[in-house]
Amino acid sequence: MKSRRRPYAEQRPQDLGGGVWSVPVPIPGNPLGYTLVYAVESPRGPVLVDAGWNHPDAWEALSGGLAALGLDVSAVSGVVVTHFHPDHAGLAGQVREASGAWIAMHENDAALVKLMTEYAASEHDEFQTDMLRRAGADPGEVRQVLGARPAPPALPDRRLRDGDLVDLPGRKLRAVHTPGHTPGHICLHLEDADRLFTGDHVLPDITPHVGIYPYDRVDVDPLGEFLESLERVEELGPLDALPAHEWIFPDVAARAAQIRHHHEEKLVRLRALLVQRPQPLTIWEVAAMMTWNRPWDELSPVLRGMAAGEAAAHLRALEARGLVHRLAGVDPVRFQAIDS
Ligand SMILES: [Zn+2]
Repeated sequence: MKSRRRPYAEQRPQDLGGGVWSVPVPIPGNPLGYTLVYAVESPRGPVLVDAGWNHPDAWEALSGGLAALGLDVSAVSGVVVTHFHPDHAGLAGQVREASGAWIAMHENDAALVKLMTEYAASEHDEFQTDMLRRAGADPGEVRQVLGARPAPPALPDRRLRDGDLVDLPGRKLRAVHTPGHTPGHICLHLEDADRLFTGDHVLPDITPHVGIYPYDRVDVDPLGEFLESLERVEELGPLDALPAHEWIFPDVAARAAQIRHHHEEKLVRLRALLVQRPQPLTIWEVAAMMTWNRPWDELSPVLRGMAAGEAAAHLRALEARGLVHRLAGVDPVRFQAIDS
């Protein structure tokens, strides 16, 4: 499978048939390389699924890529974003300015974008500092991640809910709410063509980041939701997957099942680790014990922060299943396996 990984320079806009096109849009300075933006034909003008990172090179690639396929960015009638992250929603605002298109996203992510728009940078730094301290990170670590916040994406004109049809005359493109990677992540089911635009929810080789922020939240269970969202996709059957990164692949259900098992195994391993250590552990200590794609000490502060978010999501999922508990009233927060 890895052999199918190709750098951005080797990606080309493609006519996928059935009135669907893909345009690779670069993510400058990011190892992911590119976002696959899709265009779906409609009598009012194409509708885009995601838009790409907000950067002049990305805009060039999007407008130029559409033109190479015989499409004009000024004719785009709508942009539906799978989730609010900058490599998906970043350029949506510029597309709207160029074409008058509407922007649609799930109501949960729309609420987050609204919050990001209202938050001052200083409040964001305070939030980060507090969150890291409560997780047991040392103060030096905290200082290094401050100020690194991308600008929020454009506010959407339309809010989608699970099961809603996207405004696409003559076709059936349905929003499937798949929370986990973000609270409002959606996949888009092109029901008249057995295709599923999967955003970041189901990718052919990598798995999306699923974290919890702030780390010590108890009112949500993003990993539990993510696993349920994978089951939802499995129930849709062996549709062709059109993901936002990497490459197009068949049988989305099989890949969704594989990702679900990967996380279930990770949960089993994490619980075993906690059983071996009777001492209550901070989120930071747990994250440092877990296996990442590089040794913990070699991860950058930002990546360590994300790893801690993933560790926290796994701890929260184990807690929701009654396998782990958090100690009451301690700061930083600490977790312990429940004896069974
Ligand atoms: Zn994302």
